[in-house]
Amino acid sequence: MFSKLKEALTSFTKRISETLKYRELSSEEVEKFCNNFLLELVEADVAFDVAQEITESIKSKLREIKVPRGRNTEEVILDVTRDSIREMLNRGLSRNFLEIIKDTLSISKPVKIVFVGVNGVGKTTTIAKVAYMAMKNSLRPVIVAADTFRAGAQEQLKKHSANLNIPFIGGKYGSDPASVAFDGVIYAAKNGYDIVLIDTAGRMHVDVDLMNELRKIVKVVNPHLKILVVDALTGNDAIEQVKFFDKAVGIDGVILTKVDADAKGGAALSIILGIGRPIFFIGVGQGYEDLELYDPNTILSRIL
Ligand code: GDP
Repeated sequence: MFSKLKEALTSFTKRISETLKYRELSSEEVEKFCNNFLLELVEADVAFDVAQEITESIKSKLREIKVPRGRNTEEVILDVTRDSIREMLNRGLSRNFLEIIKDTLSISKPVKIVFVGVNGVGKTTTIAKVAYMAMKNSLRPVIVAADTFRAGAQEQLKKHSANLNIPFIGGKYGSDPASVAFDGVIYAAKNGYDIVLIDTAGRMHVDVDLMNELRKIVKVVNPHLKILVVDALTGNDAIEQVKFFDKAVGIDGVILTKVDADAKGGAALSIILGIGRPIFFIGVGQGYEDLELYDPNTILSRIL
């Protein structure tokens, strides 16, 4: 995970600190180091505009840098680089997910969460992971498959629910997704469940239909949270997906999947920095336990 990005950052900080050991950096040198670094970031799959933002931020800090006596130069450069990236990663910070759930539960039960996102991003797996995490925290979830067009989605969720021993509410092929979602909420309310996790369709090629379908589900269910699931490997497309689903239903936050599969590291970083939305969790594997709270420091420690 993040190997190429890590390499780029390490060699950048090393090169600068080598020079700084002997004298201050000239502005030409700062420019040269940062331009090389920008190219390396792009090679590690960081989107160009994001790479530019990172290097501009580091550049402005480097121009004023003075290494205090007794401090290791490389550490000082590392700090500067870390600070720049951390400031940008903080854009993805959200309120703690479990706190949101618990606060909501104190005024309204069950907590209703609608998941949106394009097919294949890992939506059904993520719903199962969230259900598992909820159970680990003594909450009782129900899983609802309100994608009635894709038989595979129903089957997958049913299987996950059976594995986790969680009630599953599905619908017949072609039935009204909003009514399936509503049935799920009623079931949870009647039986004292804490959270209803509702899957929705994610076919992008019929934009208008999908938007209307999602809007109807949201109108009928009135969810507490609308979460977009995004695949870390999709690059710029992820930004378009955020726009599409935000326009359709308005999203409260994002779960970023497959961060573990981003071998170079730049793709995930670009999305985190590019979408500028709260990120509740990141997906780091295919198992139910492979879901982590989004934490800029954990991401940073993986990179640097
Ligand atoms: P959906 O079509 O959006 O519901 O996607 P699925 O949940 O079926 O996931 C598609 C594939 O991505 C499956 O093989 C999942 O196991 C895999 N997947 C989902 N999340 C992650 C993740 O965080 N890391 C990795 N490596 N694979 C994931």
